[in-house]
Amino acid sequence: MDFQSYFSDRLTALQDEGNYRVFADLARYRGDFPRAEHTAQSGQQQDVTIWCSNDYLGMGQHPDVTGAMHDALDRCGAGAGGTRNISGTTHDHVLLERELADLHGKDAALLFTSGYVSNWAALGTLASEIPDMIVFSDALNHASMIEGIRHSRAQKVIWKHNDLADLEAKLAAAPANAPKMIAFESVYSMDGDIAPIAEICDLADKYGAMTYLDEVHAVGLYGPRGGGIAEQEGLMDRLTVIEGTLGKAFGVVGGYIAASTELCDFVRSFASGFIFTTALPPAVAAGAAASVRRLKQSGSERKGQRDRVAAVRAGLDELGIPHLPNPSHIIPVMVGDPVKCKFISDTLMEEFGIYIQPINYPTVPKGTERLRITPSPVHSEADVAQLLGALSELWNRCQMARIPCAAQ
Ligand SMILES: *Cc1c(COP(=O)(O)O)cnc(C)c1O
Repeated sequence: MDFQSYFSDRLTALQDEGNYRVFADLARYRGDFPRAEHTAQSGQQQDVTIWCSNDYLGMGQHPDVTGAMHDALDRCGAGAGGTRNISGTTHDHVLLERELADLHGKDAALLFTSGYVSNWAALGTLASEIPDMIVFSDALNHASMIEGIRHSRAQKVIWKHNDLADLEAKLAAAPANAPKMIAFESVYSMDGDIAPIAEICDLADKYGAMTYLDEVHAVGLYGPRGGGIAEQEGLMDRLTVIEGTLGKAFGVVGGYIAASTELCDFVRSFASGFIFTTALPPAVAAGAAASVRRLKQSGSERKGQRDRVAAVRAGLDELGIPHLPNPSHIIPVMVGDPVKCKFISDTLMEEFGIYIQPINYPTVPKGTERLRITPSPVHSEADVAQLLGALSELWNRCQMARIPCAAQ
């Protein structure tokens, strides 16, 4: 087989569909985020404003976080030195797990090298090591959850996204005494909608299922201490497992589950994706712990974000630019065409110094291509005005439909 031409044919097909991905080469300026230097493919450099970061609160540059990382680096050096089993458990890991267990009101927490790995390893282990487990998985669950469940080879039942009636029908149809798990997310990252967690927990109680909630897009952002939607709604004790990332609102990297002591110990003892990989560097653990601690005590970052999100939404409404309404911090501006979506994104970058990555298939269904905007407390009012002006001009240039504004 001619591998090279096979690869390039497949890539050309992607390009023709408008779905070929080009990464933006950015160097963030610490202390001046969301500003960054962009290096174009031509080599040309330009300052840009980032509007699509999942460092939702700018914690990646918070002095508490970078200070803790500098300190740990100077104390302990670079790497953890191995897997947790062999020699890689450091005091910083232990402290971070305590911080996370406390954040979610659980007895224990277990760290992984990323949120992806935590879902893959925890779901894979629970679903494969509990005999006859049936996993009830929301149709829009993240790839890492899908992969974990698939890897477990447990029986999987997919229920319609956020549809309680469909979930109940499927739970009721399963054998009454089979072990069951409901796996779902709180904030769904592409549409920004939120699961009915309390009602899902009611169904879990009724049918004797355990619950596994991915709060990746909510930790740090919701609840009085940043514990997520479950904290905000007073539901943390009703969930068997809460899974989160340290890489988005907490601004560092890493993933975790928080649950009972026995469950965390079980995953620690049986999960290949935990056992056989080098632990996070101590400096990363220390930085993440500082970020979690800061967001437990301070609501100012969350309030700043909420204000900016409201300002961008109000501006889009005034301009009649269509965006999906939702109760979260994620603003999906709908374009509905992969080529236009990429064109708008490219032009925003080249002409306006605004970086918003186009979101195309397979991340979202074809026909729902969008610009996913994530305002943060570090965007200024002038940034918001510039963004809205640029979008309005491009909406004209691309002859895209506007929706009549209620206020007009
Ligand atoms: C990003 C994401 C993950 C993976 O988290 P990482 O820490 O980035 O690996 C898991 N679940 C959801 C819903 C995500 O969006």
